[in-house]
Amino acid sequence: MTALLIRGATVLTLDAADRVIEDGHVLVRDGVIAAVGDGDPVVEPGMRVIEGRGLLLAPGLVNAHTHSQSSTLSGFGDRLSHPAFMWLTQAHTARRTPDETRLAVLLTAWAALSTGTTALIDHFPGQRFSSADIGAALSAWHETGMRAVLGLRFFDGDFADIFPAPGVLSPTMMAALQEVELLQPQPLGELRELAADAIVRWHGRDGRIGVFPAPSNPDRCSDAALLLCAELAERYDTGIHTHLLETRKQATLAQARYGMTTVAHLQELGVLSDRWSCAHCVWLSEADIGLMVEAGAVAALCPESNARLGVGTAAIPAMRDAGMRLALGTDGSGANDNQSMHEAMRAAATLHRAGLKERGDWVSARQTLAMATIGGAAALRQQRVGAIAPGWAADLVLYQLDHPAWTPLNDPQCQMVFSESGSAVETVIVAGEVLLDGGRPTRFDPTALAQEVRAMAVSLRRRNADLFAVATAIADSVQ
Ligand SMILES: [Zn+2]
Repeated sequence: MTALLIRGATVLTLDAADRVIEDGHVLVRDGVIAAVGDGDPVVEPGMRVIEGRGLLLAPGLVNAHTHSQSSTLSGFGDRLSHPAFMWLTQAHTARRTPDETRLAVLLTAWAALSTGTTALIDHFPGQRFSSADIGAALSAWHETGMRAVLGLRFFDGDFADIFPAPGVLSPTMMAALQEVELLQPQPLGELRELAADAIVRWHGRDGRIGVFPAPSNPDRCSDAALLLCAELAERYDTGIHTHLLETRKQATLAQARYGMTTVAHLQELGVLSDRWSCAHCVWLSEADIGLMVEAGAVAALCPESNARLGVGTAAIPAMRDAGMRLALGTDGSGANDNQSMHEAMRAAATLHRAGLKERGDWVSARQTLAMATIGGAAALRQQRVGAIAPGWAADLVLYQLDHPAWTPLNDPQCQMVFSESGSAVETVIVAGEVLLDGGRPTRFDPTALAQEVRAMAVSLRRRNADLFAVATAIADSVQ
């Protein structure tokens, strides 16, 4: 039995009573919080003690939507629309070796841990995948020690939402596109086998790793593929993760294809359920919101990515008022440039405000914190994650109060959302294990990782020169 005691900290519990405990302590046994209180508890022999004086202790943040393969893309390209961004991303992320997949996961983990995130959903990868790719990603997440769900990206249809209008691409360009086989789907039977095998091997490992079937986007999948995802999720009791109605074009295409919205189609197909977590949800209709609420599906909102790619602003207050289960994500670093859930929270709490006259309708700091903690845990289908209370997972973050964002300490909830960017994060603990100590990851060497990633970026640029040529030409020809 391993025991860890954090004492003398200011504890922001986010528990049912919303307690903030001065000079508080948290006792952890076997990865679970055993006691929370104030004053000096008894230190038992063999117990690890972390002195929390001058530190704020808060629940770890949960990122409900990111892409590890995009972790190498911070700051690439400016004024990119969603289709242009998508094409360029393909060139950056294709043809990676399993070792490069591992490096991209570690880079994501470094970015996440160092800004106070303890759990996430990695929607993986950009293109077709093999069992070696999946194994590399899952082994790497296991290596990081984080709580991570790998969403295996399903698509067996086309990416009509990012293709230029007919006739825009020259025949030569069309031929070049066919040649490089970007975004060529793999057979459904193969997807089923790969996903089932990964779920059986990895889902639930150490209580920290999950594997979900994860449509790239329902509109890029046949009904058979969507039914397969639902069947796998039922059989193995997993969630289903997807992008959903990120762009206006996706909403228009769904009407043309189904004669109804994507959400209505999922409902009619009989697959919509509380297993679904859906990234973006920018173009939901009021009826869509109602259907998702009724089904218990989770919206994983990504306000910064939506702003960066100019796709719109999700109606977070309307979703909240309808009783939708809400989570927050950063999206991949290609669409958001960093993995800070603090910045995602600030965007979620503020971007809608100018459009809402009644300030009582604005999303509050406390509601935003719920989205970034227990809301995200619901997307990962994790129970008792996201608050500091006995019986809950010991996923904890210590922030330096001796920092401009926290000086003076006015209101810890508001400062978590509006002041902190992630830069005061000192220590991160997942399931009782310290994964970030003094700002440095404990399970891997970030200096060596940075060196390897730099070399990998150069190598990919050379290896994928043909893809960059095609993707750049297409990106230049789409709005
Ligand atoms: Zn995404």
